[in-house]
Parts: sequence; C-alpha cells; structure tokens
Amino acid sequence: MNECENLNIIQKFISENKITPKDCIYHTNRPVKNDKGKYTGAIRILVLKKDNIARCEYICPECKFHGYQETSWKRPFSIKCEKCGYLIRVPRMRDEIKRDKYTQ
Ligand SMILES: [Zn+2]
Repeated sequence: MNECENLNIIQKFISENKITPKDCIYHTNRPVKNDKGKYTGAIRILVLKKDNIARCEYICPECKFHGYQETSWKRPFSIKCEKCGYLIRVPRMRDEIKRDKYTQ
C-alpha cells in the first residue's frame, strides 16, 4: 500500500489556490521510515515562495496518525508527530540514498 495516496490536505490546498511549480520553493511527497527503518508512513511538504512556511501533511510511521502542521521552513527538516511524539525526519534525497548505501 502506498501511504502517499492518503495525503489529501495539501492536494486540496494546491488545487483550491491554483498553486503551480513556480510558486514553490520546495515540494515533496514521499514515504518515511519508522524507528526500524521500514517505510510505513508518508509525508508531503509544500513551501511557497511568498511566505516561506512549510505546509506539512504526514502519516506517522509509528502510530499512523494523519496530521497537518504549518511551521517555518528550514533544512534539514523534521516534524514531531502530534500524537506519539515520533520525530519524522525528511533528509535531502541525495543524503538519504548515500546513507542507505552505507548501511546495507
Ligand atoms: Zn505518531
């Protein structure tokens, strides 16, 4: 099952506000790992040029809570699950691939 398909809050925001790629600083929609390194959650982040705020929708990989938060945008980005407090990290893609290679 692809958890990313359950993320609909940001999708709705994009279509209602007619957001195009050129309005965005950053946009990602990807699976996230739980404590054991398994991809059991998902996160979608949208950052607009005009306000530099990260609109962040997630499904917690630990407790499956579907949450939405707005916070200031910074890298590396991480967000705490509102329900269980698990820290969901969003590494840069390239770093993530590199790290996976080293641990395999
Ligand atoms: Zn959680």
